[in-house]
Parts: sequence; C-alpha cells; structure tokens
Amino acid sequence: MSPAVVTRFAPSPSGLLHVGHLLAALEARRVADASGGRCLLRLEDIDFRARNPEWVTQMLRDLAWVGWHYDGEPMVQSRRFEHYAAALEQLRGAGLLYPCFCTRGDIKAQLAEMGRAPHSTLGYLYPGTCKHLPPEWVAERLARGDSHCWRLDMERVQELIGCPEWEDTRRGRQRCVPTEYGDVVLARKEFPASYHLAVVVDDAAQGVTHVTRGEDLFDATHIHRALQGVLGLPTPLYTHHLLLRDNEGKRLAKRDGARSLASLREAGYSPEQVVASLRRALENGGIWRV
Ligand code: GLU
Repeated sequence: MSPAVVTRFAPSPSGLLHVGHLLAALEARRVADASGGRCLLRLEDIDFRARNPEWVTQMLRDLAWVGWHYDGEPMVQSRRFEHYAAALEQLRGAGLLYPCFCTRGDIKAQLAEMGRAPHSTLGYLYPGTCKHLPPEWVAERLARGDSHCWRLDMERVQELIGCPEWEDTRRGRQRCVPTEYGDVVLARKEFPASYHLAVVVDDAAQGVTHVTRGEDLFDATHIHRALQGVLGLPTPLYTHHLLLRDNEGKRLAKRDGARSLASLREAGYSPEQVVASLRRALENGGIWRV
C-alpha cells in the first residue's frame, strides 16, 4: 500500500489573504482529498516580529470563509528555531557551510568588477569571495562578532551527492545541479534560518509527501532537493501550479489589495463564486476573472 498523502499550505502571513494564496491552499487541499490524505497548515513567519500578528487571525478567518480547513495542529516556524539551528550544525559539521562577511555593496562591486555576473533564475550567483578565506582570519572575525551570514558550499554539496533527481507531476522528472544555484544563504545573525532551510526541515518534520505550490518556486525546489540530499531527508513529490494572471497575462501581485479575499467579500462575491473562479483560472492558463 502506498503511504498516505500529506500535503501542506505554507503561507507567509505578510498581508491580507490574496486569491493567489487561496489557490495554493485549495490545491493543497484538493490533492490531499483526492486520495483521502491530510492537508496541513504551516505559518512561515520566521521574520514574524517584523510583521503584524493580526494578519494570521485575518488569514484564518478568510480561509474559514471559503470553507477551507486543515488537518491537525498548525506548525509555526517562529517556534522552531532550535530545529533550524540543529540542521545548520549538521551542515557545518559536514564542512558544507562557510561564513560570508560581504555586504550587499561588496557583492555588487565584486560582480561589477567581474564584468559579467553569473545568474540563475533566482538571481545572481555569489562570486565566492569569502569561500577560501584563511581559517585564522575567519576565526578572528567571528570572535570579533563581525556581521556575517552562512552560505552553503554547493561545490562540496555536488561532490557529496552529485546531481539528484526529483519528480514534478506537471513537468516530469527533474535533475538538480547544485552548483547552478550558487552558494545560497542559509542563515544570518538576525535571521537564524532562510526560507530554503526552514522549508526543507519542516516539510520533513511534518511528514509532507506531496508539496503543492506556485510555479514561482519551481527553481527553488532544486535548492531544496540539494538540501534534502545533504541533510538525509526524504524528497516529497512536487506539483508547481500555475500562477494567477490578469487579462493581459500579467502576474497578479500580492500588494494588489483589490484581489484580497476581504475585498471580494466586501464586493458581495460568495465563497462559491471565488472558489469557482480559481478553478476556472487553472483551466484557462492561470487567467483569473471573478
Ligand atoms: N511561504 C511561501 C509563500 O507564502 C510558500 C512556501 C512553500 O510553499 O514552499 O510564498
């Protein structure tokens, strides 16, 4: 018997619930329900202190309005820092992390000097300036408390795990080439876990078997696959669903308040109409009209 399906909806509660969020929530629920599985909720609020806790209450109220429900207890990332610290320690112990003291300005200047800034679809690749610093110098700067972040050494990751595969239900089998994404930041002093680290640790902790999320995170999944490989965590199945677009094909932005559930409710739309409009959008290349 195949293991029970577990999906999750993992919003960052940074504003009013938007139709794009709702689509992600509905997809996670639909995939779980299709096989009698469970759909969990995770609040990705690592930088929660900078945010408004009222958004969470409002978001749950909006989800309840459309009849969306989750199974079990929600997971809250801001309560899980020790788990991210343990994962970082594991990576550090395996020699896969290095501290980087570059400021944004330093990196910009280095990239400009290189003339040609290597990019992935996720942005520029870190030029590796702090990768081979003399160990005594690194120790001194760390002891002095110089501001730094921790980067994942993707060359070493690739030496260790090669180019692992993962499965996307819409796009088929994928091959992750860790070095294509550069040495991503996994933690900063004031921000003890990056999205990439927390999402991988938490998907495993919640026993998620099938991650459903928007297409904008397709490339990030390669990084997540690499992290799963080095942390010894299982790799779920992935579905990256279409993103909502307006009539001109432009992506709907979160900041566009007119597409918040609250504004649709105020405008008199019923939950059924909103849900049906999102289902239609998925059949229509993501073009959304309520
Ligand atoms: N927290 C992310 C967001 O709201 C989604 C993360 C994920 O599904 O992996 O965009």
